[in-house]
Amino acid sequence: MPVNNKTVKQYFSQKIVEWHKKHNKRKMPWKEEKDPYKIWLSEIILQQTRVEQGTAYYNRFVNQYPTVKHLAEAKDEEVFKLWEGLGYYARCKNLLASARFINKNGGIFPQKYEDVLALKGVGNYTAAAIVSFAYNQPYAVVDGNVSRVLARFFGIKTAIDGTAGKKLMHSLAHELLNKKQPGKFNQAMMDFGATICKPKLPLCASCLLQSKCFALKHHKINELPVKEKKTTLTNRWMYYLIATYKNGVYIHKRTAKDIWQNLHEFILIESGKKLSEPQLLQHPLIKKFAPGSNPALKVSKEFSQKLSHQRVTGKFIQVTLLKKTTIGDYEWVPKKSIKDKAFTGFINQYLKSLKTL
Ligand code: SF4
Repeated sequence: MPVNNKTVKQYFSQKIVEWHKKHNKRKMPWKEEKDPYKIWLSEIILQQTRVEQGTAYYNRFVNQYPTVKHLAEAKDEEVFKLWEGLGYYARCKNLLASARFINKNGGIFPQKYEDVLALKGVGNYTAAAIVSFAYNQPYAVVDGNVSRVLARFFGIKTAIDGTAGKKLMHSLAHELLNKKQPGKFNQAMMDFGATICKPKLPLCASCLLQSKCFALKHHKINELPVKEKKTTLTNRWMYYLIATYKNGVYIHKRTAKDIWQNLHEFILIESGKKLSEPQLLQHPLIKKFAPGSNPALKVSKEFSQKLSHQRVTGKFIQVTLLKKTTIGDYEWVPKKSIKDKAFTGFINQYLKSLKTL
């Protein structure tokens, strides 16, 4: 394994920075940014989101909350609304908690790696990105992209998502890091992994590392990196009763530690299995509020949303109530204020499919 070869390591570090000097074409609004707040914002947005989608959100956040103080003083509801559609709402919750923590403690974004790492929702990768880009501190970023490049180039067969693999990747990345230009080196690694040494069909023919790449030489591109975990999807079936009364509808905020915490939803009927339409219409809640004779009862087509570890499938049943009533912790809200509430992506798919609600 050439991972112990000092010359190869030097070659790698030099070439990657060289490549970036010539090919720094990946335009992103936070590139070359030195404000740690904005770097943090971009990194949190990008944690589970593609650059194309994340860019619009980043611009909106920076416009609406140009400083950590602005974000810290914003209302939860307003921030969640701005985050709507990005998914993984724990990120938004942590963003707010950390902004308020910083604001309460003097309003200056922390500079020490350990203090940045202590912020809610910030892991090693994000902390390294912030301190290397904002303060030029020598911390190497290691994520899936970087690990893939290193595993392929150096022929590392240890699973990159296991404890030993993660440790190995961190120490190798740190060793390779250009200590004078850590920010530039990290950006080069990120861009190289995203645009050249891609997960599928890497651009080996035009790669400037090709003469010393282990995976290319040994025909192991599709075998590296090795991963030990396979993601398994859990299926959930969620059926929503959209009960309207006059110009309002019943909703509540999801507060349990589950998917979509802090987002709003209509009256939920969650089932352990898929329900046929007749089975659904036999559900006690539907029978109570939408008896079969109710002419306003409408059942939607099936909708589905894939999350990182779950797949949610379900339908929406619209019913018009004849009198105002009490339904658990659901509250009646005027339809005109619905647009100010952040709903789950699953519900938004349905709402978008309607012309009006
Ligand atoms: Fe990645 Fe191919 Fe370059 Fe090797 S030659 S580093 S596999 S792009």
